[in-house]
Amino acid sequence: MRIQRHPLLSPALGTQRELLSFHYGAGKGQKIYLQASLHADELPGMLVLHHLKGLLADFEARGQIHGEVVVVPVANPIGLDQTLMHSQLGRFEFASAENFNRNYPDLAAAIQPAIEGKLGQDPVANVAVIRAAMADAIAAIKVQTELQSLRKTLTTLAFDADVVLDLHCDFEAVMHVYTETPYLDQAEPLYRHLGARAVLLAKGSGGSSFDEAMSGPWWRLAEQFAGRFPVPLSCLSATVELRGAADVYHSLAEQDAASLIAFMQHRGVLGGAAPALPAAACVPTPLAGSETLRAPHAGVIAYRRDTGEQIQAGEVVADVIDPLSDTVTPVHASVSGVLYARSFVRYATAGMDLCKVAGSVPFRSGYLLSA
Ligand SMILES: [Zn+2]
Repeated sequence: MRIQRHPLLSPALGTQRELLSFHYGAGKGQKIYLQASLHADELPGMLVLHHLKGLLADFEARGQIHGEVVVVPVANPIGLDQTLMHSQLGRFEFASAENFNRNYPDLAAAIQPAIEGKLGQDPVANVAVIRAAMADAIAAIKVQTELQSLRKTLTTLAFDADVVLDLHCDFEAVMHVYTETPYLDQAEPLYRHLGARAVLLAKGSGGSSFDEAMSGPWWRLAEQFAGRFPVPLSCLSATVELRGAADVYHSLAEQDAASLIAFMQHRGVLGGAAPALPAAACVPTPLAGSETLRAPHAGVIAYRRDTGEQIQAGEVVADVIDPLSDTVTPVHASVSGVLYARSFVRYATAGMDLCKVAGSVPFRSGYLLSA
């Protein structure tokens, strides 16, 4: 295992943060990249990667890594240092108010002019051409802020991986996975090993999140050059939501690390026989079919349904109660599906997101992500 240290741009006199990446194996083969806590207050992934590092060290000692596995257990040292009135707030950067998981570079647009004359009929050669152009484009990105340097560093570490897994969590949730529709086949062993209760599919959900910035260029270029040059889907990327923010336990983390090992064995990156693929715990659904239920007015939230439960369209999922007027307003789902995430806050401001139901019929369009 090699440790690489990546200094971030210093935002203030006397301050310098750094990112650490841990590299297992170095032989020929696929590259797998995993990072945790890009939203710095989402901590289950950190514990999972702590356990995964121990397992990977064993595989490396046995010479059973056929390729490279890169682990970044602390992907956002900026957000980890954001404590306000005793609360750690790691989703948005204090300096810019930007979401740490948005605004990653559009590599397809950046490299298209450079690769136009270099592609041919050999898909493997085209992958090499595209990755070389991506490396140049990323190196040319000028950064002026610490946040920009964080984004550039993470992109540099991940862009040439065959698999990129970004480990997050929701407030209160069951295991679920976001990935791009063209990669559904590649993602199946991942979500089956993880036991995901929802798989949310989109093809460019807007916002340039980290996972889509890694996987998106390949299907975009494949479409752009369709009929002229073959471009394989060469970066399966997924945002893995490791249940809720408080689901940080050794037992769960050990189980999830074992699932990730099984997935990497299935991909052939780790030696040894992969455990049998478990049955899928859900049917993937479009992100455009996911309904976010919102508070109709301010009040106390009393949930009537729990995460992981199947909801029928029309059912009441929660009540919002105003104890001054004693108004009790039921909040109905308008789609059927699993209640895969809900807020852990129990006081709603008007319009606040309460919970999400994974419906199977697309009804939304445009920007599909939450704030
Ligand atoms: Zn997150």
